[in-house]
Amino acid sequence: MYASIGGSRRPSAPRKSRLTVRLAVLASTVALGAAGLAVAATPSSAATCNGYVGITFDDGPTGSTSALLSVLRANGVRATMFNVGQNVQSNPSAARAQVDAGMWVANHSWNHAHMTSMSQSQMQSDLSQTNSAIQAATGVRPQLFRPPYGETNSTLQSVASSLGLRQVIWDVDSQDWNGASVGQIVSNAGRLQAGQVILMHDGIQNTRDAIPQIMANLTSRNLCPGMISPSTGRAVAPDGTPPPTTPPPTGTPTTPPPSGGCTATATTPNVWGDRYNTSVTVQGAGNWTVVVALTPPQRVSTTWNGSPSWDSTGYVMTMRSNGSGNTFGFTTMMNGNSSARPQIRSCTAG
Ligand SMILES: [Zn+2]
Repeated sequence: MYASIGGSRRPSAPRKSRLTVRLAVLASTVALGAAGLAVAATPSSAATCNGYVGITFDDGPTGSTSALLSVLRANGVRATMFNVGQNVQSNPSAARAQVDAGMWVANHSWNHAHMTSMSQSQMQSDLSQTNSAIQAATGVRPQLFRPPYGETNSTLQSVASSLGLRQVIWDVDSQDWNGASVGQIVSNAGRLQAGQVILMHDGIQNTRDAIPQIMANLTSRNLCPGMISPSTGRAVAPDGTPPPTTPPPTGTPTTPPPSGGCTATATTPNVWGDRYNTSVTVQGAGNWTVVVALTPPQRVSTTWNGSPSWDSTGYVMTMRSNGSGNTFGFTTMMNGNSSARPQIRSCTAG
């Protein structure tokens, strides 16, 4: 059920990509105890992403999806899973596990048929049945479609489009379906350039074994795994969804925030050349006060969904809830410091 030899592989079009330096989504969390002791917010990994690549796995879920997900999580990889509808229907929990592990789920047809020989109505029912199975299993409606074997035509593309699906083929074929060795898979992945997409498969041991070396290579080139944009079909930064947190070591109990405190989680969903947006979500209190510290010379230019006040330095903001819910945001001008991110100092209820 893999891509056919010499199949309709899309030639990789030369691309003048403007590589905007974007930083990994930084997530920081702080919990404040009743005694008023704040835990300093710590940004997560400081990987530099000068571009993103789309890592994709076709034909799942399979009996070894959980093994694949373990390897991906251990290596900090978020990937796009092009699932076969009937596999999802027979193993919905594996599809759910993909989403729980931070993967994006997409449509790879109902049963991996050669779709270009179908009538338009057959195409329509095949793709919508697959969308329904994926949505029923995961709660996520697919926005991407990859035709089996990369075989497509204008009818199939328009049917996919009418169902809100962007067709995605691939730029680099890992050849894992064709018996490639771990070294060959790693070497093929080494051709990936920013914005491009690689074809791999769920259910192949060599593919799983290649993941650590693929990631090492990408990291050495400042490339990061990204999501595939439903509007362009190119790999882009994850859309502000924080990567899944690593589960705590077994034996370490987790405790809920004590009463009187709350938890504030900051993400940086949008980064531009001169400024970035921060979104802060508060849990544990309906009325809250969150203190955020900036790094000079950065300055906040705009805020939303909260009532801000400032200390005399202008670098410490106290944001209070104003009835707009539990998420507030602000835009920070970098003023020459493009790497610093706001730190959450405390979160208090009331
Ligand atoms: Zn396939």
